Amino acid sequence: MATSNPTSAWHASMKRPKRGVPEGLWQRCPGCQATIFCKEAEKRLGVCPECDYHWYVSARQRILQILDDGTFEEWDGDLQPTDPLQFSDKKPYRERIKAEQARTGLLDAALTGTGMIRARRVAFGVTDSAFIMGSMGAVVGEKLTRLIERATEQRLALIIISASGGGARMHEGILSLMQMAKVSAALARYDQAGGLFISVLTNPTMGGVAASFASLGDLIFAEPKALIGFAGPRTIQATIRIELPKGFQTSEFLLEHGYIDRIVRRCDLKTEIARAIDYCGK
Ligand SMILES: [Zn+2]
Repeated sequence: MATSNPTSAWHASMKRPKRGVPEGLWQRCPGCQATIFCKEAEKRLGVCPECDYHWYVSARQRILQILDDGTFEEWDGDLQPTDPLQFSDKKPYRERIKAEQARTGLLDAALTGTGMIRARRVAFGVTDSAFIMGSMGAVVGEKLTRLIERATEQRLALIIISASGGGARMHEGILSLMQMAKVSAALARYDQAGGLFISVLTNPTMGGVAASFASLGDLIFAEPKALIGFAGPRTIQATIRIELPKGFQTSEFLLEHGYIDRIVRRCDLKTEIARAIDYCGK
C-alpha cells in the first residue's frame, strides 16, 4: 500500500461530516461542540485538544499511526465481496458495495497485513467503520482468518484494531454469521500455538465483531470513551426489561468491570502495544 502523508489522510477523513463549517480549516468537535482548528487536532492524531474526544480515523490512517513508516505490506488486498443472496434493502447490496468502495477507497471493511511496530514485526489488521459500519461479511472474516493463520505460521504477535459499529453484515445473511465462528476458531489455534493477540477496541465496537474476535484478545485495550457492546441499549432494555446503568457500554465502565484491560489514549497506543509485546516476551 502506498503510504501517503498522515496529515492529508486525516484531512480526507474530516471532509465528510462538515455541516456548515468551512471545509478543511475548522471542525466542530462531537464531544464538546467546540470549533477546533483542524491542524491542531491533526497534530494529535485526530483527538480534540479541548476535551480529548477521539475522532473517527480511517483504516489507512491507523496503519500510518501505528506501524513504522513504510513497513506495511498488505495481505489479501484483492479480496472483494460478492452478493450471494442477491440481497436488497434500500438499494441492492451489489450497488451498495460499489458506492462504499468508491467513497472509502477500500474494497471491504478491513485491511490486513504485516508491518513493524517500533521495529517489532507483527501481523496487523484493522476494520473501518466508514465501510458499511465496519461490519463483518465473508471478506472481512476471510481476511482476518488468513491474517491469524499467517500469524500462527510465522509466529508473529497479532494486533487487530476494531472500529465496527455494524457487527455481522446482514446483507450476507448466514455467511456473515459464520465468520464469527471461523475467526474465533483460527484464534483458538493461534492461542494453542502460544501466540499473543492484542485486541484494540475503538469507537464503535459492537455486534458480531464485539461478540467474536474483538473480545478474544489476550490483552484488550480500548480508546477512551469508545462505545463497546453487543446490542444497542434500547434493544437490551426491551429484551430484559431492567434499567441499565448509565454509560454501561463505554470503555470506562467496561474497564471497571474487567471486560477490558487498559484504556489507552491514541497518542500512547503505539508505545503501549510495543511495550506489551516486549512484556509478554513475543
Ligand atoms: Zn472536544
